[in-house]
Amino acid sequence: MVLKFSGSFEDLQQKLVSLGRDWDTNQPNKKVFKYNQGVMNWFESTGTISFQGKNPGKLELENKVPYLLYPQEFTLKEQEKVDDPNSLENIDSNTMSSKSADTSLERKYLTTGINEGELVIGIVSAVGTDDSKVIETLSNRLERFGYNVKKIKVSESLSKKITKNEFERIKYYMQEGDRLRLESNNNGILMTSVASKIKELRELDECENKKNVYIISSLKHPDEVGLLRKIYSDGFYLIGIHTDERRRHQYLTVEKGISQENAKELIKIDEDESVPHGQKTRDTYHLSDFFLNVGNRDDQMKNHLQRFLELIFSNPYLNPTFDEFAMFMAFNSSVRSGDLSRQVGAVISKNKQIIATGANDVPQSGGGLYWAEVDEDSGEIKDSPDGKDYTREVDSNKKTQREIITDIVDNLRKNDFSEEDLEKIEKVLQKSKISDLTEFGRVVHAEMEALLSCSRVGMPTIGTTLYCTTFPCHNCTKHIIASGVKRVVYVEPYPKSKALDFHSESIEPKSENTNKRTNDDLNHRMIFEDFTGVGPRRFLDLFSMNLGRGSKLRRKDKTTGKTVDWDKKTAPIRTPLISKSYLEIENEAINMWNEIESKSN
Ligand SMILES: [Zn+2]
Repeated sequence: MVLKFSGSFEDLQQKLVSLGRDWDTNQPNKKVFKYNQGVMNWFESTGTISFQGKNPGKLELENKVPYLLYPQEFTLKEQEKVDDPNSLENIDSNTMSSKSADTSLERKYLTTGINEGELVIGIVSAVGTDDSKVIETLSNRLERFGYNVKKIKVSESLSKKITKNEFERIKYYMQEGDRLRLESNNNGILMTSVASKIKELRELDECENKKNVYIISSLKHPDEVGLLRKIYSDGFYLIGIHTDERRRHQYLTVEKGISQENAKELIKIDEDESVPHGQKTRDTYHLSDFFLNVGNRDDQMKNHLQRFLELIFSNPYLNPTFDEFAMFMAFNSSVRSGDLSRQVGAVISKNKQIIATGANDVPQSGGGLYWAEVDEDSGEIKDSPDGKDYTREVDSNKKTQREIITDIVDNLRKNDFSEEDLEKIEKVLQKSKISDLTEFGRVVHAEMEALLSCSRVGMPTIGTTLYCTTFPCHNCTKHIIASGVKRVVYVEPYPKSKALDFHSESIEPKSENTNKRTNDDLNHRMIFEDFTGVGPRRFLDLFSMNLGRGSKLRRKDKTTGKTVDWDKKTAPIRTPLISKSYLEIENEAINMWNEIESKSN
């Protein structure tokens, strides 16, 4: 903690008068107080106080000044041994030391990186996912990093429902969440309650240990993730848990005793309710930092979680898998897209080498998609007048869907339907599957663009792997099959059934890939596989030695060339959550400069 005094110099002198009047007022930027070989600096511009000099004066100042300035907040510590200035014990056991500038969290953050910050971990999983094993494993492993684990269930924020019927209970909580999101007109609202719970748990904690981790299960709306990221910034990590539908269905029916029909209903609601304040697990899942598949193999799940944690704690020797790298590259490809609704990216690889990229955007005659171009004369960078949907001011897909609906309504009008009925019919049509049609868009889909880019340069696509930031639509899927792609990897908790249904004879979903079928049979099928690992969002943060948002990684001793040890007890958090605002951290940086200046003066 940084000690501050924002009153006038006269006030400060008055408050510390019991320690004497040995003030040096001739220094630039600061007033210096000397006491028994110790020195106190007061920087007028920021109000910050720092201590220097020798013991016992330094220790006594660190003990007495906070108490004299703020008697309500600080107590005077017993300092029997302070008289021995050479005692190391004195310096280490100095209870105020954590409050002195030398060891302040801000300073450590600015210099060596910190390993004591709090962490907030959110879980997003579909209804019917047994996330208890994941939370259990996370808790055990985090304790080995010296962390206190605190678990928070989002449903505890909702008013209680007492019923023995699991279906009713789950559905009630879903509806309650919807109701609060609607009433508050804020789809992240449940996380404000979670934040309050975190504060409560922190304050209940009697020990001084700041190594708390809060595990929140489970998030259901993208705005909830947005809200937690606003509060906890990069110190918040989201883990997306994928479990295939068969397993979730089984969990709901067998473990929870819910009927087949009711289980299906819950899964449908959870996936994506049509209203904005409804549950949107699909969109939430896409925002994850880590993607985890939970199936039969507990050992796999545990090893993956261990790796995620070691990455969070700056293990410098963990490198990306090819799948993680390829998905990151697919995401990178997506950001070139100027699509009005969403950016999708894809890459194709052969023998773990990326051979093509693709994004969803408008095609250009001569091949490929439009890029923004630099005008050689003016230096202006602009899009071609028809090169993007925004330049035509409308999404042709949505426009055509509206035209279809208007056409149907107009024809019904000719058949003597009342205006009142027509209004109702129009609303029904707007919510119908007409809005899922994609074929009227001008854009080429990312997967198709990646395939076509292979064809433009004469590169065979037989036996390749295609990575896509979302699940391929049924239209792309048939072309992917025809092109001979062997494996498709995507980010999606709810694979849309159409592609899988239409082409069930050609596609083998990986999660159901069991030994029931012979290898020969599998050789003729294309594998569809849910992506697992570090998501594109955190790729640079966790794998780059320099470009991550947090502390830098060091792998060897510069002089000896030997690799450095990584110790989980002292390892800094890669993107730490620091309890100070940027203004306080800025002050600490100013203090560091002032100290150097005062020493060289
Ligand atoms: Zn598509």
